Amino acid sequence: MDDKIRELLKTLPKIDEVLLILENDDAFKGVSRDIVVEKCRQVVEEMRKDILDSEKGGGKTPGPLSPDRAAREVQKRLLALHDYSLRRVVNATGIILHTNLGRAPLCGEALKRIIDVSEGYSNLEFNLDKGERGIRYDHVKDILCCVSGAEDAIIVNNNAAAVLLTLNALSEGKEAIVSRGELIEIGGAFRIPEVMEKSGAILREVGTTNRTHFSDYDNAVCGNTGLILKVHTSNFKVLGFTDEIGLDELVALGKKKDIPVMNDLGSGCFVQLDKYGFEREPTVQEVLKTGVDVVTFSGDKLLGGPQAGIILGKKTILDRIKKNPLNRALRIDKLTLAALEATMMHYLDLDRAVCDVRVLRSLTEPVADVEKRARRLLDLLEKLSLKDLTFSIMKEHSMAGGGSLPTQEIPTVVVTVSSRGIPTSRMERRLRKLEVPIIARIFEDQVLLDLRTITEEEFVFIEEGMKHIAGLA
Ligand SMILES: *Cc1c(COP(=O)(O)O)cnc(C)c1O
Repeated sequence: MDDKIRELLKTLPKIDEVLLILENDDAFKGVSRDIVVEKCRQVVEEMRKDILDSEKGGGKTPGPLSPDRAAREVQKRLLALHDYSLRRVVNATGIILHTNLGRAPLCGEALKRIIDVSEGYSNLEFNLDKGERGIRYDHVKDILCCVSGAEDAIIVNNNAAAVLLTLNALSEGKEAIVSRGELIEIGGAFRIPEVMEKSGAILREVGTTNRTHFSDYDNAVCGNTGLILKVHTSNFKVLGFTDEIGLDELVALGKKKDIPVMNDLGSGCFVQLDKYGFEREPTVQEVLKTGVDVVTFSGDKLLGGPQAGIILGKKTILDRIKKNPLNRALRIDKLTLAALEATMMHYLDLDRAVCDVRVLRSLTEPVADVEKRARRLLDLLEKLSLKDLTFSIMKEHSMAGGGSLPTQEIPTVVVTVSSRGIPTSRMERRLRKLEVPIIARIFEDQVLLDLRTITEEEFVFIEEGMKHIAGLA
């Protein structure tokens, strides 16, 4: 170690000195002393590391190592502890089910139910009629079965958990037959073959990427077959020379051979969206009508509720899943149940659901209405007279996102923001750093604000954001 480094290390502030400064500045408020001491230790330790790194030729030689500097740094970190990290943002991307932005926004009723149910105690696992222990799924079982036509329902943490649990309960140590065209990966490293392996099911792949025939499934059935699995390909499509076997044929095969058939629907929608210009896809009710034994889907994709994994199907099959010990590890909590129950109530009237569930409303809103909202926002922004910024209106496309309805572009209208003085990337970054961040798209040197995912109530945040970009706020 050279002498300069040795001297520098000697000048490192003592923890007590830093603490004293903080104490005098009254910087302890709202944080216990142990945490402050630990932060002091971290900061001084990082200073020591900087000195040693500079010796190795890595970093540059550190500046003055005063206790004041350390105290300021500690204070900054203490303040940051009081900032909420998880916050609301404005989704201006036009991606309706944006997994990174929390997927489905909840309806007002769901929020009220969360507060009502969790402010005090609840009957989460208490049967009020009998005065004895109850079952948590029972709070949503009836409504789910009534809307879907299923015999029984189980709810878990998310659809990945639903798939894992179902595979484990029905096919552990046994072969699960899947088409090679359905061995998909969806976002967040969820891959069907890997989930299967973790579940203990043995993957028996059949057919090819683009074509799988009935005989492929039929020939694969053997004494050790536990399950026939069909997976919604969600985020991709195979086009051209393709063939897949319909669920009804798989159900018939399953019946003949006495093997349960499962369908992982991914998004799972109760409303037929072809009326609104989307490709026809079977609804959850239609899928269950085929006689399939069990289906799984997400609570926060097209259903528009909280994160959850919904398992619907035959009672005998679901009884096997309920008894599985993994069920306890993957179980749903009371906040989610409260929100799911409120969301499901909208589906008692499917025509109303399209208006009342926000993701369905965003998907199906006529582009003329989106345009009206865009013109109102444009008006508001132009009235701000921000000299550096130019706003205009443009036709564009939104996406469903969340692996739902891929390849289907949804016409939309965006407000574009451009500036001669401020680079687009800087505008985008400033919008992200606001108190209520605005997450936007960039296209050809303009920031795009997609009105399909922006509500009128969020206009105030956008006005504030634009003033901020222009340096007025
Ligand atoms: C999205 C999806 C999942 C995972 O659902 P999460 O709710 O995100 O856990 C599983 N399978 C398919 C086919 C999907 O599209």
